Amino acid sequence: MIPRGRLRTLRSFRRAAKTDAHEQGRLGNRECKNVPKRNAATTPYPQAAGNQSAMSQTGISQPIVRHPYNVIISLPRIALRPEHELKITRILAYRVDLPLREGSYHWSGGKSVSVFDSTIVRIETDEGLIGHGEGCPLGPFYLPAYAAGVRAGLAELGPHLIGKDPTQIGPLSRFMDAALKGHPYVKSPIDIACWDILGQSCGRSVCDLLGGRFGDDVPLYRAISQQSPEEMAEKVAGYHAEGYRRFQLKVGGDADVDIRRIRAVAAKLTEGDRLVADANTGWLMHDALRVVRAVADVDVYIEQPCASYEECLSIRRQTNHPFVLDEVIDGVDSLLRAAGDRAMDVVNIKISKFGGLTKARLARDLCASLGIAMTIEDTWGGDITTAAIAHLAHSTPTQLLFTTTDFNSYVTVSTADGAPQRTDGRMAASTAAGLGVRPRMEVLGKPVIDIH
Ligand code: MG
Repeated sequence: MIPRGRLRTLRSFRRAAKTDAHEQGRLGNRECKNVPKRNAATTPYPQAAGNQSAMSQTGISQPIVRHPYNVIISLPRIALRPEHELKITRILAYRVDLPLREGSYHWSGGKSVSVFDSTIVRIETDEGLIGHGEGCPLGPFYLPAYAAGVRAGLAELGPHLIGKDPTQIGPLSRFMDAALKGHPYVKSPIDIACWDILGQSCGRSVCDLLGGRFGDDVPLYRAISQQSPEEMAEKVAGYHAEGYRRFQLKVGGDADVDIRRIRAVAAKLTEGDRLVADANTGWLMHDALRVVRAVADVDVYIEQPCASYEECLSIRRQTNHPFVLDEVIDGVDSLLRAAGDRAMDVVNIKISKFGGLTKARLARDLCASLGIAMTIEDTWGGDITTAAIAHLAHSTPTQLLFTTTDFNSYVTVSTADGAPQRTDGRMAASTAAGLGVRPRMEVLGKPVIDIH
């Protein structure tokens, strides 16, 4: 049954619709007898009766839609860009060192980084639009990627892209895969720069183009470098005071120490906080089992305990902790396999791991459909990477966005204006067209690659 209020609304809408239909000279599929037909020679929108959008001689469109009540409704006029093709005319790359504010960052297996080697890509077009992207591997020992490899790959792939239309994101993504097999982390900054150009070309933010903005901002996690349990607990307390509510502990070391790390940090948290113990593939299965059993009473997520998918799945099936996969999920195939096995509750989608925003968006949308929550981020980077992350994270349904990250707050060098800045442990994507960043050319210096 339709409520009375709703019924009145429907009736009044029908009355208004009928009036509109008579004024348009049509009612349903029958023409009204007392209303003169629209003159096909003079009507400015000759396709109106065909229920299609119409284009006047001036290039101003007047979309026409047919309502379920068979009424023709004219939507506001929207100016369309004339059809033309943008062309990539030049690709430049800049190498930028990004020192860490904390001095160094340590994770499983004794691995560490103190200065990130980041590559910023600039794509210029024949129309004067310029887009930027960034690629920054977490050292050469995290994923199959390394900093100099980004630039070597660009030198290989870049010449094939001159003359291509950067706004044709899908065809360009497939073209890159055909021109260079694999190496998603090389393609990622190019793909991000193309999204930046696409946004500028139509006056919309990348967030809008990736599906639209959910809420006002997105929640950030803080990665806690591997140190002693006491030092990590102290760090968490400090970042908690700065507004962070989600923490990712770097464990994956000695299992007994890791148990103490998790307990020491958990003691610092308050209701509503989220704690993740990320082993970054560092445990063998027996270590992982000991840890998850020893912290069975702690509210903690377990992330990527072991090196292989099969090892992780084994641990997943022996613990009640919420489970996160990261390093072993690098494409749609592995994502769907893990979803089918119920191997994770949360997945970490890093933009460069998938090959750019285009493929990360596909993974994001699949996860959203499958009910798998996500951490959306990248391997590392500065302002431009943080901007790209923010656009993908902010266009992710709120319930499914477990957390994201503000890498630009970890480093001492700012490479662009306009990048998101953290407020109370949260950030928001820019509403400006494209990524909304303006690179600081004085920081970028001279290009190390110039293809034209
Ligand atoms: Mg991880």
